[in-house]
Amino acid sequence: MRLYENEAKTVFEREGIAVPRALGVFERSADLRGSVGPDAPVMLKALVLIGGRGKAGGVRRAAGRAEAVSFATEMLGLKIRGYSVERLLIEEAVEAIGGAAYVGVTMNPADFNVTVIVSPAGGVDIEQVARETPEKILKVELPGNDEVLPEAEAVRLTAFLASGLPGGAAQADALKAVVSKVYAVFQKYDCKVAEINPLLLTATGPVAVDAKIVLDDNGLYRQEGLFHLMGLATARHDVSEPTRNEVRARAAGFRYVDLLAEDHKKDPEKLYVGLVPGGAGYGIFSIDEVANIGDRFFGGRVIPVNFMDSGGGPTVAQVAEMFDLLFDDEVVDLVITSRFGGISSCDVFIRGLVGCLRERRKTGRCVVPVVGRMVGTDLPSARDFLERAKRETPGELEDMKITVGNQKIMADVIREGIRFAFDRKGWV
Ligand code: GDP
Ligand code: MN
Repeated sequence: MRLYENEAKTVFEREGIAVPRALGVFERSADLRGSVGPDAPVMLKALVLIGGRGKAGGVRRAAGRAEAVSFATEMLGLKIRGYSVERLLIEEAVEAIGGAAYVGVTMNPADFNVTVIVSPAGGVDIEQVARETPEKILKVELPGNDEVLPEAEAVRLTAFLASGLPGGAAQADALKAVVSKVYAVFQKYDCKVAEINPLLLTATGPVAVDAKIVLDDNGLYRQEGLFHLMGLATARHDVSEPTRNEVRARAAGFRYVDLLAEDHKKDPEKLYVGLVPGGAGYGIFSIDEVANIGDRFFGGRVIPVNFMDSGGGPTVAQVAEMFDLLFDDEVVDLVITSRFGGISSCDVFIRGLVGCLRERRKTGRCVVPVVGRMVGTDLPSARDFLERAKRETPGELEDMKITVGNQKIMADVIREGIRFAFDRKGWV
């Protein structure tokens, strides 16, 4: 569970790390008037659960009340990478007298060691620092899982940080305290990430100008005190805001996850593949399979766009909606489907698919090639239905190639499907 910036700052402050003075959290710009002084410089910060707000207009500095109200009006309602800005954190602006540091604690997912990362090149994306100037990052793995950062490591991390940071030497002790406290927060609250970026050096010492905490959901049951501190009754389930497709799938009663951002710019050289798999496991597998086959045989020009899971026993209408959703998504060039009928029926599946294609043709809506295989429960009646449908309305079903039974492995079905779509586009 990710905490909002103001919540993370509450946690850090409680553990003794200095944070900017907050003037409040606001949902309407007019409400700022009573809280911001006429000439008091303030920071306006969008409370959204995503980083990189600065670059997207989600962090702004106002010189005083009038500007703060006008900036707030612009920021509320803004969308930052799919997250709408509904609340703003307003803080007194902090004046830096030295550099900006990065201090983060996380866990190495490979060996579960707690990892402390510091850099004197804070303020920007730490991934960018890692790529462009890796010598400006010190990463220390701590296999001991100690509750307190061991003194020797604290000294080593601080020396690296203080020496690279303008003004750092004079505040070395305070920096060491901050690094140790971020580590302590990480351990005490069962975090996956505890991070300050940037930590600004000010006349009164280092101040955590931005704060990020992601709690490990497996540890939430022992964090009652933290929930209380933040005024939350239960865990929030707001990892991200659902996309249009996700909302639509939820309404229709099946699970769906978009793999691309909603504002993804379509690459005209690539083939975007929507997936209607049988179940959740196969759904995950087919994402990899499509990408791997694309890499191996099609020069890496194939991009899977979604995860989907019908759950056991969807209705004909639900199956049709699963395909409709992908056909309506203008990014999709090809749909690959696999019905492995266990609880679900092949007969229901094929009626849903054929019905969807016929209806779309009748109403002049877009159809892209759909290729797949069906195996399992109710296969004989599904085959009969499919053969009759193709005899009756061949034109309406010309974009569909469904292999009936087990004579082909899915890898071949996927490869042939991609070939079919490439041929349609006249690609080699
Ligand atoms: P992020 O882009 O989502 O990580 O948002 P941040 O809270 O890190 O803000 C982006 C940038 O704004 C920071 O890297 C700082 O450079 C700057 N910033 C934010 N708050 C303050 C402040 O109080 N004083 C100063 N001088 N800069 C700030
Ligand atoms: Mn930041």
